[in-house]
Amino acid sequence: MTNDEDTIQCTEHGEATATFICEHLVANPQQRWYCDYPSEDNPWPDAWCGECDAEFEKEGEWNEKNECAANIKIVCNYCYESGHASSIEAVEKKVADSWKQMLTECHQQLSAKQELLKNQFSLSRHKRWDYDQETGLLTFSNDGIPAVIANIEMIGSISSITDTWLWSWANFHFLPNVRTRIVAVRDLGEASDFPRLTVPKWYADTVDGWEMSAIATHVLDAQGVYRAPTDNGFLFMAMSDLRFAT
Ligand SMILES: [Zn+2]
Ligand SMILES: [Zn+2]
Repeated sequence: MTNDEDTIQCTEHGEATATFICEHLVANPQQRWYCDYPSEDNPWPDAWCGECDAEFEKEGEWNEKNECAANIKIVCNYCYESGHASSIEAVEKKVADSWKQMLTECHQQLSAKQELLKNQFSLSRHKRWDYDQETGLLTFSNDGIPAVIANIEMIGSISSITDTWLWSWANFHFLPNVRTRIVAVRDLGEASDFPRLTVPKWYADTVDGWEMSAIATHVLDAQGVYRAPTDNGFLFMAMSDLRFAT
């Protein structure tokens, strides 16, 4: 929720929400951003650079001794998101080989799993699919008769309007019971320094969506992925415990 105090006029984006980042990130967003993960109450947590983080760590908080070093600036939420998104490539360079290996392995695993699902359940043959966030179930049906049921966890979505990937752990339109286990993928990203797994939203296409889904399927030990069309792109869900409805 925003009030007037949180609203600013951005020269590029017009009226938007005020967010706070250090002057170094403003000058050069293409570096690691130190910030909390977004929450429903705080979708754009204050962020600062590595140098500022060293100052922060010295004091364990921001206080009068270190806060002038960070020189916190106000930027709009769209500028915040695009800056954070643009940090990925600079951070990723350092882990390029292990990241590529991870993607290749997970992609191979997912291809095999999808093939198995196709043979077992022929999901694309069913007329309808519906998901229910409350029950966490995806149901494939024909003429009102359920055929196949799967437990689901939301992985993330591709928007063809903004050309971005958004992790479901940062998508508060979803109920917690379909976006909580996915945090394990973010944990892996943190442990391995893979920025695409820890930055909530970044510039992406459908191929990226499949790649992130392959990693999620591996981490969650899911049976496969269902990609559902949305009004403005695609939603990727990890499926487990697939069974025939009858
Ligand atoms: Zn800084
Ligand atoms: Zn802006």
